[in-house]
Amino acid sequence: MTFKAVLFDCDGVLVNSESLYEKKLMGILSDLGFGYSHEDYEKKFVGLTDQACNNLLQEDAKKRGLAPIADDFMITNAQEMWTNHIEELTQVEGAHKLVTFAKQHFKIAVASNSGRDALIKKLNGKDYAPLFGDMVYAAQDVVHGKPAPDIYLKAAKAHGVDPKSCVVIEDSPTGIKAGVAAGMTAWGFLAGDHIKPWHKERLIEAGAHCVYDTAEDIIQALQEKI
Ligand SMILES: [Mg+2]
Repeated sequence: MTFKAVLFDCDGVLVNSESLYEKKLMGILSDLGFGYSHEDYEKKFVGLTDQACNNLLQEDAKKRGLAPIADDFMITNAQEMWTNHIEELTQVEGAHKLVTFAKQHFKIAVASNSGRDALIKKLNGKDYAPLFGDMVYAAQDVVHGKPAPDIYLKAAKAHGVDPKSCVVIEDSPTGIKAGVAAGMTAWGFLAGDHIKPWHKERLIEAGAHCVYDTAEDIIQALQEKI
């Protein structure tokens, strides 16, 4: 089977945003009385939309008897983060080369649960914007974010390709589930600086067809799908 399109997640796949954001947000949440461990935080929030994270936090605040969380708490934090700390962001090792390779042989898009403003800042800040052009899909582009398949289906439709001929590149169980639900091939990519030893197993549990440790491994695998 050959692929027609390679669809990329952004956070933790193209840029090392998960680790940076986790560090900042865990500090804020700790001050508010949420005593999440790194593992709790990652299992609970990584890969979700700001809205979905906000809903979980509001539920948790209620359960724990903490002060209520505002409806725009997460979106405000994300905007502040990527407005004021974009220079601290780095590319995931090999990811820019991977996207450049994919663009030479397949249609490409980025489909992210991130809000649009933050997504554009991350893509512009790390030189991905010219590669993707207007094939950039953010949380606001669909009613249901990942793990629903909608955003990946939207990207496939925009390219005029059958979902079955698409592969998604993802770092989170939430994203893998979205790709699988869209009827696409879902590959896990474990080169981000937030990746922990338990990540691989969780991506496989979520339905990943293959899991790769490096961008070079994915380039090699894509060469067989041209
Ligand atoms: Mg991600």
